Amino acid sequence: MPDNNDCIFCKIIAGEIPSKIVFQDDLLIAIEDISPTAPVHILIIPREHIDSLNEVNHSHSEILSQIQIKAAVIAREMNIDQNGYRLVNNCGEWGGQTVMHLHYHLLGGRKMTWPAG
Ligand code: 5GP
Ligand code: ZN
Repeated sequence: MPDNNDCIFCKIIAGEIPSKIVFQDDLLIAIEDISPTAPVHILIIPREHIDSLNEVNHSHSEILSQIQIKAAVIAREMNIDQNGYRLVNNCGEWGGQTVMHLHYHLLGGRKMTWPAG
């Protein structure tokens, strides 16, 4: 079982740490990133504590599909859908993951560069 006692995103989900919520339902919460790297920088986070993409299995199919579906909905609502945007998961140390609770970054409002660093 993952250790989520000190997980910052679990605390945000529990309402113990304030955040700017842009969407929430039974499975997911989407919040503004505290230190945005683009004009639109939203974190899409499952309510269930999952350490990283390394831990997912078929029981997480609904969560994983809803993340992409809701990312598209939020992108439309934020008017970044026509110019385009990026949905990113950082996994593990070399992937640049700093918060060990699975989440996806929805980034838009500026032209993204590629390849990512
Ligand atoms: P990672 O580096 O794990 O892919 O992404 C973690 C993200 O969480 C970072 O972009 C960071 O700015 C954001 N973050 C860290 N702590 C907080 C917080 O307390 N509130 C919010 N809204 N975002 C946070
Ligand atoms: Zn957590």
